[in-house]
Amino acid sequence: MTAHIIDGKALAETIRGRVAKEAARLAHDHGITPGLAAVLVGENAASQVYVRNKVRQTEEAGLASFEHRLAADTTEVELLALIARLNADPKVHGILVQLPLPAQIDPDRVVDAIDPAKDVDGFHPINAGKLAVGQDALVPCTPQGCVLLAKTVHPDLAGMNAVVLGRSNIVGKPVAQLLIQESATVTIAHSKTRDLADVCRRADLLVAAVGRPEMVRGSWIKPGATVIDVGINRVPGAEGKSRLVGDVAFDEAKEVAGAITPVPGGVGPMTIACLLANTLKAAALAAGQEPPKF
Ligand code: NAP
Repeated sequence: MTAHIIDGKALAETIRGRVAKEAARLAHDHGITPGLAAVLVGENAASQVYVRNKVRQTEEAGLASFEHRLAADTTEVELLALIARLNADPKVHGILVQLPLPAQIDPDRVVDAIDPAKDVDGFHPINAGKLAVGQDALVPCTPQGCVLLAKTVHPDLAGMNAVVLGRSNIVGKPVAQLLIQESATVTIAHSKTRDLADVCRRADLLVAAVGRPEMVRGSWIKPGATVIDVGINRVPGAEGKSRLVGDVAFDEAKEVAGAITPVPGGVGPMTIACLLANTLKAAALAAGQEPPKF
């Protein structure tokens, strides 16, 4: 069997198109242009690429983009002062502070300082708590992307056995919460899980977010299962170059799975698309409007 390859690039493009249309409507009907402020501290190369992509896609969707690049030796007090200004700025509906931050800054304190109504990364404890108790919240972008991709294969996830491999606050836990809301039966596995391969083999839906290149082998996958690979790992490639691989051994897995996301081109593009959708949602709510559903 060769799996259906789930096209994250195409779905992300569709979502960005809908965001652009809804943003234009909000601007036309209510005079509001959703605005996203991206804050980058220091020179981390991967973060620079990521923020550049976010800024470009924000502008392409017709949203206002505000970029704040701060020196690597910025103090926590200085960063918190910027966040206070962004919290108070009515043109800014979404604030994202690119992680990781330099060692002198406590990321938890920074996330806690963001107005939960502008927390488009969905990392603030208020939004995490709302998600956990099933209230409407700004939901982390990558987990949203995972569930939207899974629903292209299974529009109704109710009753499916889902295994989420990884329990981080930014991916594993929120993916699990979203799947519970979809009435899947959810198992969360992590580094202390016993018989990990057996646990994974029970999954109708397997979401891998471990950050270990190609750890999930073909033999870990139930025949016909849907596999969502969140991992982005750079490994040595041919001719001294590097290449990206996921947390799943794609070539083996696609012979067993029913459907699978590729790396790159699967979950990755969905993250920014969902960030734009969250910014639109934050702007709509700030204007007292019903936000569109994605
Ligand atoms: P993380 O914070 O490092 O968490 C990794 C999780 O995997 C932890 O819960 C850890 O368990 C578990 N784990 C690690 N090694 C394991 C092992 N050998 N067996 C079983 N479980 C193991 O990583 P993350 O931030 O969630 O990211 C996960 C992956 O997704 C990374 O490759 C990252 O680059 C990628 N990512 C992609 C996007 C995107 O846009 N596509 C966004 C975010 C992250 P413990 O809790 O027990 O330590």
